[in-house]
Amino acid sequence: MKFSDFAISKPILKAVAAQHYTKPTLVQERAIPAILDKKDLIVSAPTGTGKTAAFALPLLQLFLDRQDAPKKGKKIKALILSPTRELAIQIAANFNTYGQFTNLRTTVVYGGVAIEPQLDILAKGVDILVATPGRLLDLHKQDAVNLDYIEVFVLDEADLMLDMGFQDDINKIERLCPNKKQNLLFSATMPDKVMELANKMLEAPQKIFVAPTATAAKTVVQHLYYVPKRQKMELCLHVLRNATKGQILIFRRTKFGVDKLEKTLLKNNYNAVSLHGDKSQAARQEALQRFKKGEVNILIATDVASRGIDISGLDAVINFDMPNIPEIYVHRIGRTGRAGLSGNAYSFCGADEKSYVLSIQKLLQKPIPAAVDNPYPLDPKEKPQVHKKRSGSKHRKGRKSVASKKKKKRWY
Ligand code: AMP
Repeated sequence: MKFSDFAISKPILKAVAAQHYTKPTLVQERAIPAILDKKDLIVSAPTGTGKTAAFALPLLQLFLDRQDAPKKGKKIKALILSPTRELAIQIAANFNTYGQFTNLRTTVVYGGVAIEPQLDILAKGVDILVATPGRLLDLHKQDAVNLDYIEVFVLDEADLMLDMGFQDDINKIERLCPNKKQNLLFSATMPDKVMELANKMLEAPQKIFVAPTATAAKTVVQHLYYVPKRQKMELCLHVLRNATKGQILIFRRTKFGVDKLEKTLLKNNYNAVSLHGDKSQAARQEALQRFKKGEVNILIATDVASRGIDISGLDAVINFDMPNIPEIYVHRIGRTGRAGLSGNAYSFCGADEKSYVLSIQKLLQKPIPAAVDNPYPLDPKEKPQVHKKRSGSKHRKGRKSVASKKKKKRWY
C-alpha cells in the first residue's frame, strides 16, 4: 500500500514524501480511511507505530478544501487533547510538518508557561488546536477559545490521561464541544476504564488494535536481571560501563527515583539529564533537546513524563523499575530498535517485581531471556521487601542515621 492510495491530496502527500515515509504503517493503513470516512474510532496503538500521522494526515485532508488565511474569529475545527506538554508540542509539530504546504494553521497550548502569548496566537485564528486539559479550560474561562465549532475531537494517550486524573477535565471539555462531532480515542493500553470512557464518548466506533508485540521484541534484544532492590544502582552502573553505549533511556517509577539516579550518574561522570513532572517546562524542554541532539547520552524519565515522546534511534532502554502494566513494558522497549535498527532493553527485576515479569512474559508469549553477566543475582529465595509503617520521631531518627551511614559507605 502507498500513501497515494488514500484519498489524500497532493500538498499533504508532498509533505509525507519530504519525511521519506515510503509506506503507511499498520495503524495508518487502518485509521486513515476510517477517519476520512468520518467514523468514530477507538485505536490501541503504542508510541512509535506512527499513530500521530494516523490522525494528523486525514484531519488535515478533511479541512483542506476549507483552508483560508488566519483571521480573527476563525473557527477551531479540531481539538486534540494530550496529557503532557511535551506530547502536545510534538503532536502540533507533526501537524505543522504534514500541513506545511497547506494554509491550515495548528497551534498548541499547555500549562506551566505564560498564558499571554497563547492568547495572542489564538486571537489570530487557528484551525487545529492541540492542548493539555488544564490550560485549555483556563483559556476557555477567559473566553480565548471557542469550542462550539469542533468537528473532530481527538483524545490521545487516553489511558495516561485517566491515570493522571484528567477524567473530570475530559468530561468538561467534551461538554464544551458540540454533541455531534467525530470522536477519536487513542490509547497505548486498553484497561477497563478506557473502554468505559470509549463507550460514553464514541458512537458505533470502529476498533483498531495494533498488537504491541508486533512492533517490539522483534528487533530488540532483551536482557532480564533478577537483582536485589538495594543493588539496582550498582547494576545500572555495571550495565552502563560494560554492556551498552550510545543513546540510552532509563525508566524509573517515581520522580524521587529519577532525581536520585541522575545525581548518582552525574557523580560517576555520566552525561545524564532527567525528565519528570516536577521540573519546569523550560527545564524539561532543554533536557529533551540536549538528549535529542546527542549532547548528553542518558535520559532518565518517568513513564508519565516520557510517554509518547518521539525519541527514535535509541541504542538501549533500561527498565530500572519494572512496569506493573505489561503493555507499558512493550511500549518502553519499543523505543529502541525502531525502523529496523536493533536495540537492547535491560530490565532490573527486584524480588517484589517478579509478578510483573510474569505478566509481561504472558503478554509477550515467551520468556524474557535472563542476562548472562549478572554480577548481583537475586537469591531465588529472597522475599519481597516489606515496607513497614514508620511512626514516631525516635524511629525516624534511627532510620536517618542508618541511611547516612549507608550513604558514606557507598562509592557512587
Ligand atoms: P508516533 O507513533 O506517532 O510517535 O510516530 C513515531 C515515529 O514514526 C515518528 O518519528 C514519525 O515521524 C514516524 N513515522 C510516522 N509514520 C511513518 C511512516 N509511514 N513511515 C516511517 N516513519 C513514520
